[in-house]
Amino acid sequence: MLAKDLLDILACPLCKTPVRMEGEKLVCQNADCGCRYGIQDDIPDMLLEEAERLCPGCGAQREWLPEQDLLRCPKCGKSFQCKREALAENKK
Ligand SMILES: [Zn+2]
Ligand SMILES: [Zn+2]
Repeated sequence: MLAKDLLDILACPLCKTPVRMEGEKLVCQNADCGCRYGIQDDIPDMLLEEAERLCPGCGAQREWLPEQDLLRCPKCGKSFQCKREALAENKK
């Protein structure tokens, strides 16, 4: 079980929206994103590469294109783009 104060500061690495505990997963509360992150030994695994990136439209796993900060659904074509500003700042 994750400590509540840890849960309070966790946010989706893609869109910076807070996540909520749902079963054994941490789920992004942004309906357009909705990425689900696993928890290993009480440590949240916030890697987008390993997340369930299910399409809100059709439920398929979306492709993650890091160069474009883009999630793209191979099934219905719906995409979700998010500028990861914090990371962009670090690259300067
Ligand atoms: Zn998100
Ligand atoms: Zn889709």
